[in-house]
Amino acid sequence: MRKKGQLIMLFGAIVCICAAALLSDEPTAKPASAGVVSAAFERPVLILDAGHGGADGGCVAADGTPEKGINLSIVQTMRDTAAIMGYDVICTRESDVSIHDEGVTGLSKQKKSDMDNRLAIINGYDNAVALSIHQNQFTDPQYSGAQMFYSKKSEAAHALAEAIKGRVVSTLQHENERETKPVGDELFLLDNAKCPMVMAECGFLSNEGEAQRLESPVYQKHMALTLLFGVNDYIYNE
Ligand SMILES: [Zn+2]
Repeated sequence: MRKKGQLIMLFGAIVCICAAALLSDEPTAKPASAGVVSAAFERPVLILDAGHGGADGGCVAADGTPEKGINLSIVQTMRDTAAIMGYDVICTRESDVSIHDEGVTGLSKQKKSDMDNRLAIINGYDNAVALSIHQNQFTDPQYSGAQMFYSKKSEAAHALAEAIKGRVVSTLQHENERETKPVGDELFLLDNAKCPMVMAECGFLSNEGEAQRLESPVYQKHMALTLLFGVNDYIYNE
């Protein structure tokens, strides 16, 4: 109940901020999501990437649920909430599709085209922060918990990963001891993104209990808000 209470408080804070903005006599007042925003501050565009889609379902829970739908659900809540908070939000996909170029045939070529197009979207903005949402899987079903991955080339991405991890531990998974993990060219988007980018593996579909939570629409919203507040911490506290 404590976790739930904290999330309700977080959500309540968003509603209060938005209500304050709406009730303000000052029509040009900008909603301040957190902290003091200086005149020179330009809030980055928030780019959200729901992993997989279309023929590529990603990893699959024991009950047959693929990660692609869970990823999209979390991204949709993040998108809508971030928009309320005043972010400009870009999503690489907003439905169950692969975004490969038209006319490309064969799953591996479609996957390559899909990833190239996702990267083009992510690198299409000078001032951005990007988050790619995925679910994890391992042969041993005992493992659970969210984990953040970032490019070893980017200090900013490392800071973003730590901020998100901090929120995961304080808000959703108090017992989570997973370290943020630097990666190289094995993760194409992270390795080639020009902006700070993190891949959030929200949990393990190979763990029955965690898979059940991840398949729950309410838990998906808890996860979405937790990740979003981590992004917010990074943007306003760095
Ligand atoms: Zn995935």
